[in-house]
Amino acid sequence: MNYIVMDLEWNQGNPEKEPELADMPFEIVEIGAIKLNKDRKMVEQFSELVKPQVYHELHHITRKLIHLQMEELQKGRVFPEVCKQFLDWCGEEEYVFCTWGPLDLGELQKNMDHYDMEPLTDRPLKFLDVQKLFSLAFDDQKTRRTLEHAVDMLEIEKDIPFHRAFSDAYYTAKVLEKIDREEILRFYSYDTYVKPQSPETEIHADFGTYVKYISRVFPDKQTALEDREVTGCRCFKCHKNIKRKVRWFTANGKHYYAVSECDVHGFMKGKIRIRKTPDDQVYVIKTEKFITAEEAKEWKDLAEKSKKQRREKLQKRRGLLDSILRPME
Ligand SMILES: [Zn+2]
Repeated sequence: MNYIVMDLEWNQGNPEKEPELADMPFEIVEIGAIKLNKDRKMVEQFSELVKPQVYHELHHITRKLIHLQMEELQKGRVFPEVCKQFLDWCGEEEYVFCTWGPLDLGELQKNMDHYDMEPLTDRPLKFLDVQKLFSLAFDDQKTRRTLEHAVDMLEIEKDIPFHRAFSDAYYTAKVLEKIDREEILRFYSYDTYVKPQSPETEIHADFGTYVKYISRVFPDKQTALEDREVTGCRCFKCHKNIKRKVRWFTANGKHYYAVSECDVHGFMKGKIRIRKTPDDQVYVIKTEKFITAEEAKEWKDLAEKSKKQRREKLQKRRGLLDSILRPME
């Protein structure tokens, strides 16, 4: 499998002069990429400018960030041509996209949609977020660093300037080359620009220490939370139905937690995040992992506390309602 390390530069509208298009707030103006072979060695490169069709002035942020002038961009070709060339360049062999951070693939697909191009995928797109992998391999496993920080830390030679699509793809590829533990490369991310529309296109990913489920789209939160796949509890190691120890609870209405117990594998914590789609439907991202007995106890306490707080809030509201209604009697 090849690795397509990709970076995009994009422009946006100046609100007063060029209002942003809802379907494409960010117009891609440059695509840069490096192809690595299965041994993660650089084999090919891609670099093309895109001639803007929507926003005809560079936004001041873009101008500061990417060191590009509109005159230069005018020498590029239109997005559908460049994008098609890029996708052809990616090749027939199996590959995975790799980007620094989670944003590029969403913007790529948004731009492709704007020009009615054939979609890249019919489900969330698996990719490697090298910014995340860098943190897993060399840092504290959660902080997101800048690309330049990673390059400095790994003592990669800075032989070309940053913040152009090609150079950022090049340095991202250099960071990816430096990851020396193969198991780190198992930690795929999923771009959810395209949401699952049916059970067949839902995502069930097993990362060894935890599992992730990306559900199909539901009309609303209530329907999602009634779905058995969403709230069911099966041990992800032995796939048996297991006992619920703490029922799904939420403190903020967006994140839900539950704990269950497998006789063989111990306590398993589930977390559900409710995500909205642009047309106000919802889908769910559920992660499950095993936790210790002490942690299970902490979650149980937290659930009780949250239940109590909710009850108190409800009572307070009722009391308030009573005091408003009483004078009217
Ligand atoms: Zn089990």
